[in-house]
Amino acid sequence: MSEINNVVIVGSGPAGWTAAVYAARAGFAPLVLAGELEAGGALMTTTEVENFPGFPEGIMGPDLMAKMQEQAERFGARVEYEDATELELAGEVKTIRTAYGEYRARAVILALGSAHRRLGVPGEEEFAAKGVSYCATCDGFFFKDKEIVVVGGGDSAVTEALFLARFGSAVHVVHRRDELRASKVLAERLLAEEKVQMHWNSKVVELKGGDVLEAAVLEDTTTGERAELPVSGLFVAIGHDPRTAVLGGQVALDDAGHIRVEEPSTRTSIPGVFAAGDVVDRTYRQAITAAAAGCRAALDAQAYLAS
Ligand code: NAP
Repeated sequence: MSEINNVVIVGSGPAGWTAAVYAARAGFAPLVLAGELEAGGALMTTTEVENFPGFPEGIMGPDLMAKMQEQAERFGARVEYEDATELELAGEVKTIRTAYGEYRARAVILALGSAHRRLGVPGEEEFAAKGVSYCATCDGFFFKDKEIVVVGGGDSAVTEALFLARFGSAVHVVHRRDELRASKVLAERLLAEEKVQMHWNSKVVELKGGDVLEAAVLEDTTTGERAELPVSGLFVAIGHDPRTAVLGGQVALDDAGHIRVEEPSTRTSIPGVFAAGDVVDRTYRQAITAAAAGCRAALDAQAYLAS
């Protein structure tokens, strides 16, 4: 039988690492299951983070995550680069399985984050990694001097479009409405960027090509008119969905699929199981709010273990 950990934290975004810092400083030597391929969460695919307090010059997303990890490890957090594949959360001792083994814990903090939402149009699967991408920082360089499309109108789409303007010959931003959802400062920066061409009231309805992506079919959402846009790269940035599939229905979710917690605590429907970050939050979804929730989850776990 494996040892029983006090706290296992599943996920390694700002919520997971902040929970680890607090649980480690409380002397619980938490174990962080950081993920095998996507350790660090959404910020690993972000460029400059300009709104995390304490970094007046901004900080790159991966650097921020590395600093959080370093801080957690300094106080005794342990890290395994594994994905939780199955969780048994009922009872006093919980079991978390991965492809490499199993871990037991008295308390579990779920900081599972969220996954990129897909367009769900013909060609999206076919041209994945052949022109279709969900991460500008990962794949932008492949589209140097090429025509690029970014789909979405939120902060992610705008940040990605601004980043891609460094590489592409033109960046077409396709948004389903006539107004961006993104924050004012980012929206203004986008609209001032010479290489950016806005396609308002438009949606991508199909992707076409041979071996690689060659065109996106756009539909005007007001007239229904369709037009083909020749393009080499298409970046989908239309939001995220909470990553809860691994929970297999054990924990109560809200109607949008986020883990339900007993606000203002991070307690889930199962005693000893806490949740924080994008997997819970349908409103704020910022690095700083995820970090704050991670702190609360660690304090809640601490109180639970003490009782
Ligand atoms: P988001 O704010 O939910 O925006 C998603 C965008 O995609 C919206 O413009 C939405 O259109 C559009 N969309 C959604 N489903 C669509 C579909 N099926 N087809 C076409 N378009 C679709 O998501 P996000 O941009 O990923 O941002 C998530 C959170 O992270 C936000 O809270 C954001 O502030 C934060 N974030 C912050 C920064 C930063 O501060 N630097 C950077 C990135 C993200 P509608 O507008 O019509 O709904």
